[in-house]
Amino acid sequence: MNRFSFKAMWDYKCPRCRQGDIFIKPMSLSNPIDMPEKCEVCQQKMEPEAGFYFGAMFLSYIFSAWYLLLPTLLLVFYFKWHVNAAMGLAIFLGIISYLRILRGARSLWLHLMVPYDAAKAK
Ligand SMILES: [Zn+2]
Repeated sequence: MNRFSFKAMWDYKCPRCRQGDIFIKPMSLSNPIDMPEKCEVCQQKMEPEAGFYFGAMFLSYIFSAWYLLLPTLLLVFYFKWHVNAAMGLAIFLGIISYLRILRGARSLWLHLMVPYDAAKAK
């Protein structure tokens, strides 16, 4: 029961205990996806196998494509914006959401693959 927690995923918390952090704090701009080897609370491996986060790349691609395409199409075809203005807005949205989507996709992927374990959450 209560297998998936959107809040824990959104807050970048460990999927198994929902207490430890998935990413190293504070975030370094030169390596925004720097993760600890294991959760400091429950010892869950943050990269269970080599190439584990390859799937997260597809999640971020799917999400960002729709997140940027739909408003752009809406602005151009419904609100009659010029294509360049709509593209400018899409680029702006892409820039401001880049880190959120990059880290969110990794967090979501880890949460989809690792189940919650109430015994590990003290
Ligand atoms: Zn944990």
